[in-house]
Amino acid sequence: MYPKLGLFIDGEWRATGAGSQGEDVINPATEKPIARLPHAASTDLDDAIEAAKRGFPAWRAMSAYDRCKIMSKAADLLRARLDLVSKILVQEQGKIFAEARAEVTMAADTISWYAEEGRRAYGRIVPGRSKAVRQFVMHEPVGIVAAFTPWNFPALTPARKIGGALAAGCSIIIKASEETPGTCVEMVRCFADAGLPPGVLNLVFGVPSAVSEHLLAQDDIKKISFTGSIAVGKHLAGLAAKTVKRSTMELGGHSPVIVFADADPEKAADTLAAFKFRNAGQVCISPTRFYVQEDSYRRFVSRFVECAKNIKLGDGLESGTTMGPLANPRRLDAMDDLVADATARGGTVVSGGRRHGNVGYFFEPTVITDLPDSAKIMTQEPFGPLAPIVTFKTFDEVVTRANSLPFGLAAYAFTSSNSTATAIGDALESGMVGINSVAISTPETPFGGVKESGHGSEGGVEGLSAYLNTKFISQG
Ligand code: NAD
Repeated sequence: MYPKLGLFIDGEWRATGAGSQGEDVINPATEKPIARLPHAASTDLDDAIEAAKRGFPAWRAMSAYDRCKIMSKAADLLRARLDLVSKILVQEQGKIFAEARAEVTMAADTISWYAEEGRRAYGRIVPGRSKAVRQFVMHEPVGIVAAFTPWNFPALTPARKIGGALAAGCSIIIKASEETPGTCVEMVRCFADAGLPPGVLNLVFGVPSAVSEHLLAQDDIKKISFTGSIAVGKHLAGLAAKTVKRSTMELGGHSPVIVFADADPEKAADTLAAFKFRNAGQVCISPTRFYVQEDSYRRFVSRFVECAKNIKLGDGLESGTTMGPLANPRRLDAMDDLVADATARGGTVVSGGRRHGNVGYFFEPTVITDLPDSAKIMTQEPFGPLAPIVTFKTFDEVVTRANSLPFGLAAYAFTSSNSTATAIGDALESGMVGINSVAISTPETPFGGVKESGHGSEGGVEGLSAYLNTKFISQG
């Protein structure tokens, strides 16, 4: 059920790297190793760079129409292998099978969307100041891309980066997460089977800091796209700055949710609880700070807790499971720490709050109320199944509290008033805002943050532009 893992360099699979390094991949539901992952030695990375250098001109020279055909075929293959890839994803990452299928489907849709959008990388003609001058604005691929993806969305995050780069005519070296490598291995296999020329897409694994330092020191690499923590993003942005590379940074957030008293509290709680505990809360746009206007607070909390208590924890491949384990033991330690801090500061754990079972990285869906804004969980992204819920009185007060952190990835608000909806959409400092909706991530819309949550967008026309340079030609 789980594939043999390898590096993919210059159109060939390497079952081992040039060195003898590697690591075990662990199933978070069983804590058992499921495969051995080879690490790339620096010579493998150099081979990947040389391959990407050869792959870039060949891929760029191909018409956008023909590139679209290969990418579309890869997306179709991914859809045809949906159940296989989804089972691999569950085993290495822990989310439930239904969520894995939804993610792999979205990954295929993202590749399809970029395949088509690559055919619309239009330039424009700007009227000259003299009749004798023609002025063209052209878009060209940035060149070789280095991409780094995390473990929480092993299909969707690589699909965004591979899709955007290939649609623009770039070649790419991707270092997917060592903790969840099998899904990306299978996605790359789809591209290889679809006839992608050698060197255009290269997949490596290794010690993350060693791989990123090696790749980002190269002049030949012109762009970095990273999804992960703010701390690592700052470090990588610094490395990329040395050779002034283009960069897209999708970093962490701490998404406020504001439920106004004129919203239906039960309806909002149902929507938000389902969204909160998706992937056990390990989602960068997961709602993480709940502000509920005083009049609705008790009703909202009561319904939200009911939803949390109905969740069935278990192995994501077992039928009936509605939430899987956390992806790694680091998250369990982080949950213990945040819950202990919240209770020490006067918070009440109304549901959950503890690890679950003796095997697997399970943590109960947790709801904490009546805690101060100074609690760690109100200022640090939990990245797990914790929902802190507090009250607010007025619009201005809650906007100040929501905007008080140095993050700005996603934010949500629930209200039945059109004027409040417009005002809150304008007031929140966030790259994405969901109003009476949590549907803020689709292939055709821009996904990205502001402030320390990063810069640049993936998806939408903005996602393609991120892999294109602008060239102005004035022709006399
Ligand atoms: P971490 O900071 O150790 O790693 C985050 C990701 O970056 C991992 O995928 C890791 O492999 C990669 N990474 C780490 N150092 C790197 C380097 N020098 N070069 C290249 N890649 C590197 O944290 P973690 O324990 O894996 O996750 C914890 C935190 O990371 C979470 O609390 C969350 O804030 C953040 N995170 C965010 C996202 C997201 O989608 N934005 C995804 C995963 C993790």
